Amino acid sequence: MKRFGSNNDVFCFFCGSTASKDRKLITGPSGNTFICDKCVAICQGILDQQEADVTPIELKDVPTPREFKEYLDSYVVGQEEAKKTLSVAVYNHYKRMSVSAAAQAAEDAVKIEKSNVLLIGPTGSGKTLLARTLAQRLKVPFAIADATTLTEAGYVGEDVENVLLKLINAADGNIEAAERGIIFIDEIDKIARKSENTSITRDVSGEGVQQALLKIIEGTVASVPPQGGRKHPNQEMLQIDTTNILFILGGAFVGLDKIIEQRVSSHAMGFGSEVGQMTDEDKMKLLNQVTPDDLVKFGLIPELIGRMPITCALKELTRDDLVSVLTEPKNAITKQFQASFNIDDVKLEFEKDAIEEIADEAIRQKTGARGLRTIVEKMLMDVMFKIPDIKGKKTFTVTKKIVQGKEKNIESLIKTDTAAIESA
Ligand code: ADP
Repeated sequence: MKRFGSNNDVFCFFCGSTASKDRKLITGPSGNTFICDKCVAICQGILDQQEADVTPIELKDVPTPREFKEYLDSYVVGQEEAKKTLSVAVYNHYKRMSVSAAAQAAEDAVKIEKSNVLLIGPTGSGKTLLARTLAQRLKVPFAIADATTLTEAGYVGEDVENVLLKLINAADGNIEAAERGIIFIDEIDKIARKSENTSITRDVSGEGVQQALLKIIEGTVASVPPQGGRKHPNQEMLQIDTTNILFILGGAFVGLDKIIEQRVSSHAMGFGSEVGQMTDEDKMKLLNQVTPDDLVKFGLIPELIGRMPITCALKELTRDDLVSVLTEPKNAITKQFQASFNIDDVKLEFEKDAIEEIADEAIRQKTGARGLRTIVEKMLMDVMFKIPDIKGKKTFTVTKKIVQGKEKNIESLIKTDTAAIESA
């Protein structure tokens, strides 16, 4: 090996140190250059730091509400009101963040408060999908949490701070990026307190969690245990400022329509029909008239409601909507299965009445669009098991009978190209 340096020794070209028991030298590809392990570590640190530097959001990078809505349109079926409301809310949120910290700190600056959003809508109507799609368009970290798994500190369950850890993980550990992300908390209605009167005993599942959530939603510097789970003393904590994190809360709020209906009809502007007989459209109109008082009656604490000034109702998806969900969006379920089958040289086709039957099945299961994927997945299970072993090009057509489970041996319906040619 060639030797360098005044003492004719090998030395690190960065710091000049020679090799020793606790300093290893790495030779460059030319064989003439060297770097020590300590300098490698320092360089890595510099690179990590550069990666962590987050460019501030500039208003010109934030899509306008119309652009947001157009983007949502290609992924989410229907829910026009919700799309519009969310597009405006998210635009305003990131617009607010584009005002530089210095400008916001100025004595006479008008402080624009953030506007978190509450989405009210049945299971599988697209609440999570809307929030996720917005985050995807903005290229900001996104995390989903389920309010029912949260408990206030000290009780069995997850600490509320773990929601923030999910966001940090979604940002690959980049706290600065996480600090401008979006968190969707589902099933917020399930942590409503049971009665309007504060009970004497502590309400573990409800009000305590709402209080804990309130803190992170209104903006605080939270300490998050890096490995999740419970906090314990002497543990290194990650510090994250939640001031600019946008919270979108969602829930089905079963029974809220009745509370609103009572209020509205007592003001002599009744809808003229019982909630039970209302069309989904009427129900949504009613839910869009929700006031903070209605939500307090439902069991949310006023402080939390105050932090979610924007509320929006989503409607239950109809059969036609479900058919569209299956076929139209950019990554519609049938398109996803077709793309996946295509990798195995299979042309997957769905007959029109088969698609309608899948939609009907989801309605029967009362799972909204959420159940569609499972229905298709289960139905194609045997075919997916068999087909990768069949060589050559193949075709498989999903019929209504297959969806209904009336075909016993659906693998036999796989057509190989030769069979297709023969039957032609
Ligand atoms: P929610 O949060 O309202 O319970 P999700 O957004 O989680 O429902 O929906 C579950 C799945 O159903 C989504 O991943 C998506 O595939 C589909 N889905 C639900 N609503 C819609 C919609 N309006 N448009 C397109 N797909 C939808």
